[in-house]
Amino acid sequence: MARFTPQQQAQMRTLLEAGDAEHALALHRTIYPRAGSGLIADLDEEAIREILTEDARCLAFCDDQRRRELRIVAAMMVALQCTHDPRWFARPNFEWPYRISLKGAIQNLFKEQAVAGNLMEWRRSGVVGEVRVLHSADGPCDPCRRLSLRAYCLETVPDIPHPLCTNTDDGCRCGLIASKIRGLSRIW
Ligand SMILES: [Zn+2]
Repeated sequence: MARFTPQQQAQMRTLLEAGDAEHALALHRTIYPRAGSGLIADLDEEAIREILTEDARCLAFCDDQRRRELRIVAAMMVALQCTHDPRWFARPNFEWPYRISLKGAIQNLFKEQAVAGNLMEWRRSGVVGEVRVLHSADGPCDPCRRLSLRAYCLETVPDIPHPLCTNTDDGCRCGLIASKIRGLSRIW
C-alpha cells in the first residue's frame, strides 16, 4: 500500500465524496509531488482527474449513484496505487447488482481512459495510419475477436472496451495497437 496514512486515506475518501476534485488532487500531490515529466505521480493525477470529471462510455449502464461510488473507488485505487480488490475502497454494504463485476467495470474504465489517451496522441502525431484490435489469447469475447479481424483508420476505430464484451470477471482485456506508421512499411 502506498504512503497514505489511514487518516489521509479517510481524508481522500471524504474529499472525493464531497466531489472536491481539486482538494483531492492537492492532497495526492502532498504525498506524490508532481515531477512535471510524465512520471507516475503526474499520470496518476491526470487519471484521477479524468475519472472524476469525464463521462465514461463504458459506465453508461450504471445508475448515477452507483456510478458515483464506482468513480470514488477507482480514484482511490489510482491514488493509493492499489489495483487489487476494489471492494477495499467501496462503502460497506455497497450493492453492485450488475452482470459485470465491480472489478471488471473499473478495469474497463481504466482501459477506456488508456485507449482514449493513446488515440489522442496518435491523432495528434499524425503518423499512425492504421490500428488493429489486439485481443487476449485466453478466451476473448466473440465481439472483440471479430473486431480484431481487420484494420481501422483513426476515424473508424471501434469502441474498446467493447460494449458487448463478455469478460464479466475482470473486464475487457483487449487493446488497440498502431499497426501502420506513415512512412514505414507495415509493423504489425
Ligand atoms: Zn473483450
